[in-house]
Amino acid sequence: MRERFWERFPLEELSHEEWEALCDGCGRCCLVKLQDEDDGRLYFTDLACQYLDHHQCRCTTYADRFERVPDCVRVTARMARNYDWLPASCAYRRLARGQGLADWHPLISGDPESVHRAGISVRDAVVSETAVAEADYEDHVVRWV
Ligand code: SF4
Ligand code: SF4
Repeated sequence: MRERFWERFPLEELSHEEWEALCDGCGRCCLVKLQDEDDGRLYFTDLACQYLDHHQCRCTTYADRFERVPDCVRVTARMARNYDWLPASCAYRRLARGQGLADWHPLISGDPESVHRAGISVRDAVVSETAVAEADYEDHVVRWV
């Protein structure tokens, strides 16, 4: 990877390896989100995709995630720039909006645990979507810091 690539190149010019390294491993994009039918507002929940490892905050089926979860979404530079369903802490969203990486990001700290210590990740704070009836999803709306 190129030295401090996240400061020197736009998202569109990153290599695959650099792009993957940008993910801070928070797991927040793998949470069920609810949208208000009237005003379109998005709400995060503490319900995780059934394939999220709750402690590592990583997908357990990353290579074939789109086959297993048809509505799993590939993050792109355009999406990070234009849509709000990525959390404000997300590295892709931050860079796309000119905010730079936070000091707890593993690329800055040099430690993959720093995202967990900073309380940004969903580590051990979520339940599987399969453990809750869909009618009760609204009870799981939370505000992540
Ligand atoms: S929200 Fe962004 S940084 Fe966090 S796991 Fe998802 S893609 Fe990676
Ligand atoms: S399939 Fe994997 S990447 Fe997609 S939402 Fe589920 S845990 Fe996240």
